[in-house]
Amino acid sequence: HKDTRSSKGINFHEGPRKMNNDSSKSRSLPTSPVLTQSSIPCNDGSAFTNRSIDQLNPVPGADAAACEQILNEIMVTDEKIYWEDIAGLTNAKNSLKEAVVYPFLRPDLFKGLREPIRGMLLFGPPGTGKTMIAKAVATESKSTFFCISASSLLSKYLGESEKSVRALFYVAKKMAPSIIFIDEIDSLLGNRSDGENEASRRVKTELLIQWSSLSSATTQESHGYDTRVLLLAATNLPWTIDEAARRRFSRRLYIPLPDFETRQYHLTKLLSKQKHSLTESEIIEVATLTAGYSGSDITALAKEAVMEPIRDLGEKLIDIDLNNIRGVTILDFKNAMKTVKKSVSVDSLAHYEKWALEYGSVG
Ligand code: ADP
Repeated sequence: HKDTRSSKGINFHEGPRKMNNDSSKSRSLPTSPVLTQSSIPCNDGSAFTNRSIDQLNPVPGADAAACEQILNEIMVTDEKIYWEDIAGLTNAKNSLKEAVVYPFLRPDLFKGLREPIRGMLLFGPPGTGKTMIAKAVATESKSTFFCISASSLLSKYLGESEKSVRALFYVAKKMAPSIIFIDEIDSLLGNRSDGENEASRRVKTELLIQWSSLSSATTQESHGYDTRVLLLAATNLPWTIDEAARRRFSRRLYIPLPDFETRQYHLTKLLSKQKHSLTESEIIEVATLTAGYSGSDITALAKEAVMEPIRDLGEKLIDIDLNNIRGVTILDFKNAMKTVKKSVSVDSLAHYEKWALEYGSVG
């Protein structure tokens, strides 16, 4: 992942400096013409920017510094993912279109019994595209996207996590329609009564309170504001989520390892941007050999394979013309498979399938 975080992060204790946030997700200052910071109103009708944080009136329930931090570090504006960027997962995509994308695009059609859901859990082995799916939902539903991992929410915000949760939901409502994506949700809603400390219990409670505050469409209308806000959460450890929290996710979608067709599509897509000499049947062969690989394993494998032509060059690399570098071959893929192996064990797969059968929604 490229890291395009903003350096405008604000540390609650030490004044402005770069925050050490979750490095795997891309987030930066709002750059979209529609979503500039100055367009974010405070409760008093003013904007967050053009005033120093100290001057801002505290927003009930969410202070201005925390809100600004959410805008700078958690709101993602520079990375658009579309459905076609994601290999396979047709069922999950359809389910999300119906449950979120269409209701967000046509709120007038999705009222009353058709009201959109407020929470959805994506679960499955690591590297299967859960984060990508969340980004695509935000792009396709034209929503503001907020992305944070539960563990960084707990650890990086230095005792200010509750405030951050409040600010997150406050800003998300202000900028609705919004998708709040919380990765590794198990570390926040996990069933760890013995190991759970007071601080993380408070954050968990705050999250549940804020989540409940995402009111129904009827309430929205009477309040006169747009609360198309959905909490999308992802986990590799769904069985550790406590029962009460689990029930709050109206849908629990299994994001499985890619099947043969998906691996073939993914490989073809990766190779489409690369000089290569793989025939259709050789791509099929690689897709067959990579049974059990996750989407991210396949990406890693392709990245390793395309290094082989470069390695062959040795020192010649310095002067060679780009056009004279050979294309990647099936042999390079086979060699790469010696280094890049599948990352999900058969045992853990069985565990996911069992949980999906018991608690998952059919995609
Ligand atoms: P997860 O959130 O399930 O752990 P991610 O969405 O972060 O997985 O995926 C990690 C990387 O793996 C992506 O950036 C992408 O390169 C690749 N990847 C995983 N699944 C897919 C997929 N279905 N289609 C295309 N790329 C994928």
